[in-house]
Amino acid sequence: MIAAIIAAAGSGERFGSTLPKALISLGDRTLIEHALASLSAVVDEIVITAPAGYEDAFRTIASDRATVVTGGATRSESVRIGLAAVSPEAEFVLVHDAARALASSDLARSVIAALRAGEVAVIPGLPQVDTVKVVDGAGYVTATPDRAPLRRIQTPQGFAYDLLQRAHQSKSDATDDLSASALTVFERSCALTPVVIPGL
Ligand code: C5P
Repeated sequence: MIAAIIAAAGSGERFGSTLPKALISLGDRTLIEHALASLSAVVDEIVITAPAGYEDAFRTIASDRATVVTGGATRSESVRIGLAAVSPEAEFVLVHDAARALASSDLARSVIAALRAGEVAVIPGLPQVDTVKVVDGAGYVTATPDRAPLRRIQTPQGFAYDLLQRAHQSKSDATDDLSASALTVFERSCALTPVVIPGL
């Protein structure tokens, strides 16, 4: 059984919107509908983390395609809450950002294929094609890192369910680092190395 958590509890502030980001439209559909369409084709169960106060709006959109739970204060907390709503029979869990509306079903299939091949944490990533500069506080360049080993990571990211559970349990408060993503929690708690597969 494969489950997916769609992290959609962020605000739309950076988009300059009063609506939650996942309810903003891209083309003919909202971001959450794009995510539901690509994931429901490849997973058995979907949990959406919605911003407090918008649960019903998300339930109306999801209908019987997903369970909607109220997200937390950070993405990491939202993922932990979403994970608690995933069926314990799940073998793998994909964690996807609703904001990444263009992620395709094929991308999710590649992540699942890597999990089936024995990986326990799988991240899609694209090569870093632009030059990257490190700058100091005043904007002056201090270093130019080698681009070759760098990847721009995407979602959905895939995990073995048991290990993701353990990662979130072993870190009593994943939110003490506000930027902690599911992946960071995972890396720290399990000391396992995620693999980056080619993104799309
Ligand atoms: O804001 P940021 O780019 O980190 O958000 C990444 C994803 O995590 C978004 O899809 C957003 O809806 C989700 N998120 C969440 N709960 C939060 C903050 C963000 O589910 N508290």
